[in-house]
Amino acid sequence: MIKVKNLKKSFGSLDVLKGIDYEIKQGQVVTIIGPSGSGKSTFLRCLNLMELPSSGIIEFDGNVIYKKTYPELKKELINAKNDNNYEELQKQYKALRKEEIKNNKKIDKTINTHRQKMGMVFQHFNVFPNMTVLENIILAPVQLKIMTEEEAKQKGMELLKTIGMEEKANEYPKKLSGGQKQRLAIVRAIAMNPKVMLFDEPTSALDPEMVKEVLELIQKTVKTGITAVIVTHEMGFAKNISDKVLFMDDGKIVEEGTPQELFDNPKSPRLIEFLSKVL
Ligand code: ADP
Ligand code: MG
Repeated sequence: MIKVKNLKKSFGSLDVLKGIDYEIKQGQVVTIIGPSGSGKSTFLRCLNLMELPSSGIIEFDGNVIYKKTYPELKKELINAKNDNNYEELQKQYKALRKEEIKNNKKIDKTINTHRQKMGMVFQHFNVFPNMTVLENIILAPVQLKIMTEEEAKQKGMELLKTIGMEEKANEYPKKLSGGQKQRLAIVRAIAMNPKVMLFDEPTSALDPEMVKEVLELIQKTVKTGITAVIVTHEMGFAKNISDKVLFMDDGKIVEEGTPQELFDNPKSPRLIEFLSKVL
């Protein structure tokens, strides 16, 4: 469903993602754990192109949605300055650069189509404060003409029922608890029928007593078979829900495997140290 090759992202001179290779299969639930600042959010944001990678390839749902490999060739070029094949390499570089820039312009136009297939839920439940609960849900599907207003309202009410919030349909978010706002953000994403759900620390900003209701909704959501990538600090949750766990540190995937492998039998010293702090 998602395939990432040699993904790198820098902000100025700060290298945040240092070459990520990973493949997420359809229906898999992948959680990402790791210390703060290790690049987890940046990785997630690159997956739906909210952040454009500095280089690398991202495939989604059978399409290359981003491909920028010429910066890597440029590095080779610089190293090959005194080689015989320098001119040939330079030609290749120029052609590749031209082609990829052209293709990425085309991709630019289709970004929104890809994004619509990826629901994203953030730490700070970014629901629209000036819209009612139901309006929050129907906005995107109606604006993007995925559903008529009637259909969207009907679907919205169904979704609100599943989280026991149908009575809140006409309330404004300020009247909701943090847990309710986050559950609204989740069903709002689900209303778009996404192929993938991306969650970035969905419970980190919640009061402890509201964590459970949000985790339960995420659990219920992934049981429908949707592909999900979840950045989380909830280790018990990660262990229960994941098919695969990634441990990120310093812009790289340091270790990956099943929850049993990572939590019960961690191999890298950095993961062992990380787990000793958070468990
Ligand atoms: P994590 O989610 O694992 O805590 P992030 O991906 O948010 O890590 O951040 C990784 C690093 O990238 C941090 O050092 C952060 O300050 C930096 N960073 C993230 N976004 C930006 C940005 N838009 N501009 C500059 N630096 C950024
Ligand atoms: Mg983060």
